[in-house]
Amino acid sequence: MTGSAPLAGGGCRTAPVLKERGQREVFCGLTGIIWLHRKMQDAFFLVVGSRTCAHLLQSAAGVMIFAEPRFATAILEEGDLAGLNDAHDELDREVARLLARRPDIRQLFLVGSCPSEVIKLDLGRAAERLTEAYAPKVRVLNYSGSGIETTFTQGEDACLASMVPVLPATDKRELMVVGALPDVVEDQMLGLLRDLSIKNVRCLPARSITSNVAVGPNTVFALNQPFLGDTCGALERRGARHIPAPFPFGEAGTTAWLRAIADEFGVSDERFAAATDAPRARASRAIAQASEHLQGKSVFFFPDSQLEIPLARFLTNECGMTAIEVGSPFIHDAIVGPDLELMEAGPVISEGQDVDLQLDRARAARPDLTVCGLGLANPLEAEGLTTKWAIELVFTPVHFYEQAGDLAGLFSRPLRRKGLISGLDK
Ligand code: SF4
Repeated sequence: MTGSAPLAGGGCRTAPVLKERGQREVFCGLTGIIWLHRKMQDAFFLVVGSRTCAHLLQSAAGVMIFAEPRFATAILEEGDLAGLNDAHDELDREVARLLARRPDIRQLFLVGSCPSEVIKLDLGRAAERLTEAYAPKVRVLNYSGSGIETTFTQGEDACLASMVPVLPATDKRELMVVGALPDVVEDQMLGLLRDLSIKNVRCLPARSITSNVAVGPNTVFALNQPFLGDTCGALERRGARHIPAPFPFGEAGTTAWLRAIADEFGVSDERFAAATDAPRARASRAIAQASEHLQGKSVFFFPDSQLEIPLARFLTNECGMTAIEVGSPFIHDAIVGPDLELMEAGPVISEGQDVDLQLDRARAARPDLTVCGLGLANPLEAEGLTTKWAIELVFTPVHFYEQAGDLAGLFSRPLRRKGLISGLDK
């Protein structure tokens, strides 16, 4: 296993990047609503879109029978698309109906889609108008979840970035951790930071609008997801400072992430060891057990979730795999540079996609495991390649020490299954 010291020569950070700008296979940013609506318990996501958008949301979320959902689609009909109706008036009526029926809503996100962008419906103006009408009880914001030129994780980035300009200002020295985590994982993270004696920790997104998240020149922030480039920029424009770090996947990633924060707050080595030694040992044991089927195997990442680089770092450095290609939709060096620095040079690092060319490269390499989107997984499986759906990695709790074994397990399961099936074939 490799530690978390940057490699001499910069590892993959100094490697040339293969930039591709061809046809891509991606999901749109509406997908993020599925995990964001669970996180923000007083928020509602109103997609202004078509029946296609409504179907995507429903099939991705499953049908919620027992709970009042916190998302819906205001469907643009043909008359709206043809400019025959005043879509703003209709939207105002829909919002009025919704807020009258759901007094629990404190934050309303108007989410743009391909159809609303095609007819140039100005949701920014709508959000301003509706904020004036419903403030202070309800805050109305807008962002785009459109599928044009985006990946599915950009929905969360756009949502969080839309919240930053309206956060209250503060001069307090505070740590903000940015990125939606399942509550149980967020609680584990807050416990680790507490054990490091780091006080005044805020999370964005917070579970509720009343959580006092504020930002200012003395705010430092750490990202827990690598797809938050716009949010990072928005926070920097408010004067906050980013703490660059590898992402908290696996034992080494989590330790390096915590170490970067601990250094920022002057935590001693003794306190750091006292807080992390036991969970580190647990994580290492869990990874060793779960990565048994990963050792010595090769992996090929198609660009999809933007988690590819930190996950490739985890699989190569902590699970004994070899990366053939690590493709990511976008590469923000300021964000994923620390992970690239920890990876041995060797794999192709590619940004963007030209799907046919990339498929040719994967077929030629015949990796043991291919991590890709749903659209590519089935055809590749039919060609005898073993695949892992990238989207599962965003829906499953995978961050920090206690999930490190599960994260390795997510990758080893398809390989184990393949081994069992080929054993049966014999
Ligand atoms: Fe399809 Fe665009 Fe709606 Fe996404 S936003 S479901 S890509 S129409």
